[in-house]
Amino acid sequence: MKIERYDRALGAYLGVAVGDALGATVEFMLPREIRHLYGVHCEIVGGGWLKLKPGRVTDDTEMSLALGGALIAAGGWDAYAVADAFVAWLKSKPVDVGNTCRRGIQRYMMVRSLSGPVSESDGGNGALMRISPLVLATLNDDMAFRRQALEQAHITHNHPLSDIATLVLGEMARMLINGGGIKECRVLANALLTEYPRFRFDPYPGRASGYIVDTVQTVLHHFFHGDSFESCVVATVNCGEDADTTGAIVGMLAGALYGASAIPVRWLDKLDPGVVTEIRQQVDGLLELPGSQ
Ligand code: MN
Ligand code: MN
Repeated sequence: MKIERYDRALGAYLGVAVGDALGATVEFMLPREIRHLYGVHCEIVGGGWLKLKPGRVTDDTEMSLALGGALIAAGGWDAYAVADAFVAWLKSKPVDVGNTCRRGIQRYMMVRSLSGPVSESDGGNGALMRISPLVLATLNDDMAFRRQALEQAHITHNHPLSDIATLVLGEMARMLINGGGIKECRVLANALLTEYPRFRFDPYPGRASGYIVDTVQTVLHHFFHGDSFESCVVATVNCGEDADTTGAIVGMLAGALYGASAIPVRWLDKLDPGVVTEIRQQVDGLLELPGSQ
């Protein structure tokens, strides 16, 4: 039982990096362009618009690691420590930075505020893409998860649809790591659709952009229709558009459901070994935090 929880926790975090590294190759491409070039894109080969080395991850994984590192260093939640970690990451000249993330971090640098005003332009997927370390840090504390998930989100994204998506998909990952299954995920998804019908994902509406509604539809459709870690992630990234980020998010959910042991070894072998080591260390540190004990 303990081992299974660890395997699911590790799967959720490694799943982010694997989905990011696989999807980055086809980020901003359309499905028909991907088909033309790759048939089905299912190998970690790098390239893409960022001209990445095979196995290189992008901002999705890097911001997760920044958040996770701050949680471990502070022994739990410290919003300023998280914002400072995002600043350090931005100053490290990352290979890619989303516009909304950059704007939010720069606002914090200038005025030290942990949140901007609610903004129509903050409806991107950047708050959700980095949620996995917080999931691991709050496995036994529902209230802490909800409060901290929104606080970390608002550093860069203050938008009601980003908020609800971050809460619901983060909660799905928590529930899966704690031993839940696909049925409980359906319950959470149905509750989301009752309150916010615009997230409806069956039949698949067909857009996979960085807009949080498109992202959630793409992730949930392929998460519920897949039957393995690999099938969920491959189907998702082959929708193109914001493929590294949809890949990272579905990688979190599929990793939490199927476990790290279900991630194809050929993908783990390709992943940047420094990132794999850092994720493994962070998983150990995050699971020891008070919110997960
Ligand atoms: Mn990215
Ligand atoms: Mn992206």
